Amino acid sequence: MRKLGALPIVGQPNPSEPKDIHLVGRYAIGAAWADGHASIYPFDRLRLDCPCGACAALALTPDMAWPTEIKKTPDGLRVGWSDGHASLYLYPTLRAACRCAVCTGGH
Ligand SMILES: [Zn+2]
Repeated sequence: MRKLGALPIVGQPNPSEPKDIHLVGRYAIGAAWADGHASIYPFDRLRLDCPCGACAALALTPDMAWPTEIKKTPDGLRVGWSDGHASLYLYPTLRAACRCAVCTGGH
């Protein structure tokens, strides 16, 4: 099933799974990955990146970009939003959504 990235090695952390998920300030989720990389996802950006595909076309209200639940599951990061929508970000997808200078090529 896993097409990209390093193969998980038994007894070592999976490089495409976050070691830690935490809040950054009041408006973003931070992820610390097993390979040492750190990503920051502002709530509004995260909602627009919802894998359902429909959210990207929405004009966000503050409710829609406000998480009520942030949960690490074995499959991915689950985020419930104030408007009742729920998103599941598979970890490789979440990592690919990182927009830091390193991940976007330094531009
Ligand atoms: Zn990055």
